[in-house]
Amino acid sequence: MIREIVTYDVHSKKNPEVLSRKTRKVKDFSARETVECIRDLNDTLDDLIRKEGNKRGAIGLSATQIGVDLAISAVTLGKERYILINPVLIEENGKQRLFRIGCFSLYEYRAMVRYNDDIVIAYYDPEGNRQKLSLQGDRSCVVQHEMDHLVGDLLFERLRNKQKDLFVPREAMYRDGTVPIENHGDIFESLRSKGFTKVIPPVIWYSSLFNDYTDYCAYVDKIANENAYLLDMVKRYTPEKGRIIEAGNGTSALSVALSRQGYEMLYCGSDTDMLELAKRISEQNKTFVSYKQSDIFRLPYEDESADTVFSYEVLETLSDAELASALEEGLRIASFYVFMVPSIRIVANTLKGNERLRSVDDWLSFLEKEGHTVKEYREFDNGGYIIFVIA
Ligand SMILES: [Zn+2]
Repeated sequence: MIREIVTYDVHSKKNPEVLSRKTRKVKDFSARETVECIRDLNDTLDDLIRKEGNKRGAIGLSATQIGVDLAISAVTLGKERYILINPVLIEENGKQRLFRIGCFSLYEYRAMVRYNDDIVIAYYDPEGNRQKLSLQGDRSCVVQHEMDHLVGDLLFERLRNKQKDLFVPREAMYRDGTVPIENHGDIFESLRSKGFTKVIPPVIWYSSLFNDYTDYCAYVDKIANENAYLLDMVKRYTPEKGRIIEAGNGTSALSVALSRQGYEMLYCGSDTDMLELAKRISEQNKTFVSYKQSDIFRLPYEDESADTVFSYEVLETLSDAELASALEEGLRIASFYVFMVPSIRIVANTLKGNERLRSVDDWLSFLEKEGHTVKEYREFDNGGYIIFVIA
């Protein structure tokens, strides 16, 4: 039987009692309440997967979420369904990682939460046999989240900062048609003023990208590699050793990569924490990038003083008026503006929550209306991104 999910009420901040209760251990595997709980967990999770999909390949539901206080969770890992009865953590490698996680009981929210990266659990299967399971990465994170449910933790106990690490993702914002359209750097404050009290600040988001890196040189290599087409496009419109501005608010990885190749790089961003992080990345790569704090509407450079301006994953956060102003400002300084934005077809789980997504046609008609010449553009089939070069 498909059951209704018990949810935390984000408006009254009330947790239904069953979600915060420590569950009872299962002693009788053939008891009616055990058998019915397993059946309903299976049915309800199947229904959720039908509706929501299982993009990250690991998804779970626990008994408390269907209103039953037994220590039972159902998880789907890849194609395989596991029923975890009385699960306990028996080994962990001591390494923690930051994961972006959602919970069916906290539907509108996502959180950045630390879990052990590599664990072994012991549990009983529905026949009462003791089993062991070794888990890494997303699978490990999802199973630990379900085990938290069984001791009455939603995920609040795992947050270091309740204001910053819990946030509303794009999917929920879009539901009522109000998409906050904001400058990257101001996302936190402006969303807060719109009543979204928990929004992820950029530096937390980016820090989560560094899980896999012990040094920033490898990180720059990876980002440059992933964005090779964008870098080629920027270079094609810039003379050798030319002057390039990145209007950004990220880690400046592409500026660092271009600096390595002999270009004179100027980088602008508005978020203080992000600029600090960007400078560290450049220093560790032994490159010289000139960093300035500024927003993208008033770049601190003279008219016609650079060859190219570029930005990636920034402009999609602007309103039409802001976008017109940002492009005009870039083209005051440089002959070409190269920018990469996510398209309407992007997979939502890679977004931060403040994007405004449009199709290629929408972008082209906007650029034409603003009087810009589109030199070229390219839409990537697999990644859901578009690159434009305008003059
Ligand atoms: Zn959950």
